[in-house]
Amino acid sequence: MTVGVLALQGDFREHIAMLRSIDVDTYEVRTPEDLERCDALVIPGGESTTIGKLATRYGLIEPIRQRCEDGMPMFGTCAGMIFLATATTGGFQPQLGVLDAAVERNAFGRQVDSFEADLTVSGLEDPIHAVFIRAPWIDKIGADVEVLASVTEPGGAVHPVLVRQGRILASSFHPELTGDTRLHQLFVDSIASG
Ligand code: GLN
Repeated sequence: MTVGVLALQGDFREHIAMLRSIDVDTYEVRTPEDLERCDALVIPGGESTTIGKLATRYGLIEPIRQRCEDGMPMFGTCAGMIFLATATTGGFQPQLGVLDAAVERNAFGRQVDSFEADLTVSGLEDPIHAVFIRAPWIDKIGADVEVLASVTEPGGAVHPVLVRQGRILASSFHPELTGDTRLHQLFVDSIASG
């Protein structure tokens, strides 16, 4: 099994290092030809508008959508989650539209630009230490989207930050920036079980 990491912009190197640390065969994906070789795709954090523009320029949007429709597992973190989603609450930007969710970019606001929190994740025994960097949250999800973890605002509003829809996994935070490999392992196990 080989997991490609979309390497147009953002922290793709950290995903590669994390996948290698759990003995997964991985490489950087920049072209439709690269995409053909992988069994699953990770889309890193970074800047979703830049990833979207570069993916458009390199002719990757349709091939990635097609692979997703054909059942290829995908894992998007932060900007990667935005890129997978159907909509943002802001203006238009290129998105794959395969994850039935509307995301709000930079949702946590300026004063809490970046923060860390321990999250309870459904299916994992111990909490995950989650790193949020100018992170989105999910505003609306479709009926097929399962929420695995959420954050609660001081006012009580609850926002999903880790979701699964079929073979797509998406997080608002950056598991690739911690030493905790459990989410990558969960993703890899889901590829193997498909
Ligand atoms: N704020 C970025 C965006 O909207 C995401 C930040 C990140 O990936 N850490 O694309």
